[in-house]
Amino acid sequence: MASPSTGIEASEALRILNRVFGYDSFRGSQQEIIDHLIGGGDALVLMPTGGGKSLCYQIPALVRRGVGVVISPLIALMQDQVGALTALGVRAGFLNSTQDSYERRQVETAFLAGDLDLLYLAPERLRAESTVRLLDRGTISLFAIDEAHCVAQWGHDFRPDYLELSALHERWPQVPRIALTATATEATRAEITSRLNLAGARQFVASFDRPNISYRIVPKNEPKRQLLELLRTEHPGDSGIVYCLSRASTEKIADFLAGSGIDALPYHAGLDARTRAANQARFLRADGLVMVATIAFGMGIDKPDVRFVAHLDLPKSVEGYYQETGRAGRDGLPSTAWLAYGLADVVQLRKLIDTSEGDAAHHRRMGTHLDAMLALCETVECRRSQMLGYFGEQATACGNCDTCLFPPQTWDGTIAAQKLLSAVFRLRNERGQKFGAGQVIDILLGKSTPKVSQHGHDSLTVFGIGTELREAEWRGVVRQLLAQGLLAVEPDYGALVLTEASREVLGKQRQVPLRREPERPARAANTPRGSGRAAGPGGGAAGAAAELPAAAADLFEQLRAWRGATAKEQGMPAYVIFHDATLRQVAVQRPATLAELATVSGVGEAKLAKYGQQVLDTVAAAGAD
Ligand code: ADP
Ligand code: ZN
Repeated sequence: MASPSTGIEASEALRILNRVFGYDSFRGSQQEIIDHLIGGGDALVLMPTGGGKSLCYQIPALVRRGVGVVISPLIALMQDQVGALTALGVRAGFLNSTQDSYERRQVETAFLAGDLDLLYLAPERLRAESTVRLLDRGTISLFAIDEAHCVAQWGHDFRPDYLELSALHERWPQVPRIALTATATEATRAEITSRLNLAGARQFVASFDRPNISYRIVPKNEPKRQLLELLRTEHPGDSGIVYCLSRASTEKIADFLAGSGIDALPYHAGLDARTRAANQARFLRADGLVMVATIAFGMGIDKPDVRFVAHLDLPKSVEGYYQETGRAGRDGLPSTAWLAYGLADVVQLRKLIDTSEGDAAHHRRMGTHLDAMLALCETVECRRSQMLGYFGEQATACGNCDTCLFPPQTWDGTIAAQKLLSAVFRLRNERGQKFGAGQVIDILLGKSTPKVSQHGHDSLTVFGIGTELREAEWRGVVRQLLAQGLLAVEPDYGALVLTEASREVLGKQRQVPLRREPERPARAANTPRGSGRAAGPGGGAAGAAAELPAAAADLFEQLRAWRGATAKEQGMPAYVIFHDATLRQVAVQRPATLAELATVSGVGEAKLAKYGQQVLDTVAAAGAD
């Protein structure tokens, strides 16, 4: 069992937090986790993205004797992670397949000489006997297993190499281990514990709420126009991610945005490795770039100022949706999670599930995931509390999601549901025909399209009985019936079919409350501005300078310009120099001396020495204007 760390070590941790990282105090359970690890205990840490997981192993590695070994699947990001630590004055290195043997030897030598505080290691390196021998010859202070959910078999991030990590404990039983993940469900947690042999580890589970993210889900009608409006009105010049389901659509949307004057790049697994790496590097380094990507992009992206995540297609699960949207606003400033979804998404995903590999149980599980996602889309309750509820957390209405800000009207959709279900019954059960939502809605609206005439559907008794609703409203009815399990789609044709529960509606034993379709898609008014829920200092969503007093906003922009130029010169991402939140505080406080500047959050010793005078000069020059 771990012994509690001594008071001296605990204050050593706080001193490092102040001196190296430039932060005043620990967040949430960081202190407890750090103490536990310094004392030699094992830990499993579940914390949302942006919660501050890295410090939980970085600080113990600096306090304990030896080198902290960090296992991470994010090979493409290791260089940046190490670069960010180096900028803080921490001695870090990495070993992965991107290095030549000379670079590798240098890192190995530093490791053996004890000249490293942290060593980042790709999991597959541990399969090589040479790596194991290398680790044996050095002194290891701890093992940190980052993105620990990669050990979970059914998760979409599964990495076979992670299974080998259970052996760490057998080989180095005296070295404490900390496994970290932002993946929240009970099932994943249990799988991590058993596969990594962490039954004896202490669990630290943080709340998964991300209060600075405003969640919005809108019906998809003209996705490109809707997306463009979002970017232009609420996020001009901001960095963000747009997720699409297919490779082709990422390219199409990226072209469209670029053609509309927005700096955008595509990212998907079909691009060659070099283009992928280049696009990712540009996203990390540039300010205000929009990445249009499949979900192949994003894990471990630690860019703090991603201001929005937009989904143009329905995610496959609430877990995936949470992970993807979680990439917004790591810096705690207000950010937007926006999703447009339509009927076609449901049909497409059902088809995808049906044709995917795996056994019946796997298909069922995927179906359950999709149902939960649909329920989140169609809820009239607070989106955040529904999502947190899905992860086993209780929460009250948040005041910072679309359903809280603009509570949807509900209406009694029982009769509409009966009409729609009986149309499906006529086609499917009486005539044995397979038709999708489009045809059924045309029939209800009494449209004599060629397809309607060809099949004689204009002679059905249900023809034209639904003219009281607009087509968009009927589509909403179909979506909501699907979400409530009162209707189903057949994966192969996307044909509508009745469910057991449909019969209760047709038999008039069940009421069907529905959510009213907005006349126009919900928009701009629901920025989190003024909602009082933002976790970070000040801030509105529209542009990083929003809501600063005019004079401070000018200075903030000048500081950003200085940062951009410096970053370019040194070939590193701008946020590695200082985060937006730090520059905002400088702009408001206008420090005149290095000592004053040192009190700003995010200004540690190394950065004060390296950039302090330049920041003061920028402030002074602005004051002279
Ligand atoms: P995670 O890995 O959990 O997603 P990070 O470790 O990247 O989160 O931390 C998120 C952001 O919060 C980073 O910019 C980090 O510097 C900052 N941060 C972490 N801990 C603190 C703290 N105690 N005080 C201030 N900022 C912090
Ligand atoms: Zn809410």
